[in-house]
Amino acid sequence: MNLILLGPPGAGKGTQAKRLQDRYGVVQISTGDMLRAEVAAGSEVGREAKAVMEAGKLVSDDILIRMLAARITRPDCARGFILDGFPRTVPQAEALDRVLAETALKLDAVIELAVDDAALVERIAGRYTCAKCGAGYHDSFQKPQVEGVCDSCGSPDFSRRADDNRETVVARLEAYHRQTAPILPHYAAQGKLQAVDGMADIDDVTRQLIVILDGVAA
Ligand code: ADP
Ligand code: AMP
Repeated sequence: MNLILLGPPGAGKGTQAKRLQDRYGVVQISTGDMLRAEVAAGSEVGREAKAVMEAGKLVSDDILIRMLAARITRPDCARGFILDGFPRTVPQAEALDRVLAETALKLDAVIELAVDDAALVERIAGRYTCAKCGAGYHDSFQKPQVEGVCDSCGSPDFSRRADDNRETVVARLEAYHRQTAPILPHYAAQGKLQAVDGMADIDDVTRQLIVILDGVAA
């Protein structure tokens, strides 16, 4: 099953993708995570992307399209993938259509997580992850069961993203509305777009997604 989760920063794409990957045997592909790994490695792409990401702007389509095309054709995607953070512009969506056509892959669903801007600022400002295994948490909405200890791997080390601050969030929401939201009609025209209520709590959003995806998988 090949799926795109669309939605503004903080909508819950990563949270839900992590839950869905085990259930459906597919891999989460987060272009944000891939770029952060490049920045951490100090690669050429990472050096180019760092300042752009810190400013809350979008990294160039060329870099992202090349990165994504190489990633979705890797063997671990054989049973499918969930794209989280890609495509983010109309040229990226068009390039993805071409890559899929060339590789005889198809998209089974494109799901928008609809969340109000006001809620996103709070979600992003409170987000943190386990530094060891990457499990996601939130100061108010998704705390570890034992304070200071990761539920998944037991690590006491957590980290916050450099761009998860209130100033950068404004730029990231602006980039979403101006550059990413215009891809919604692209997928609506293909008859692939569905929306879920991303304002609901985390378990409820998962339930809404499972109803759609069990229908797709059947
Ligand atoms: P995205 O990948 O879309 O940027 P995340 O999945 O990282 O968003 O979620 C952003 C933050 O909001 C995380 O800290 C997460 O725990 C929290 N979160 C995710 N979904 C919800 C939800 N439905 N309600 C409340 N908080 C949520
Ligand atoms: P994310 O982890 O999805 O919130 O992405 C973090 C940052 O990485 C974004 O604010 C962008 O600067 C960059 N980024 C991630 N995915 C893309 C993409 N598909 N196109 C352009 N920039 C991206």
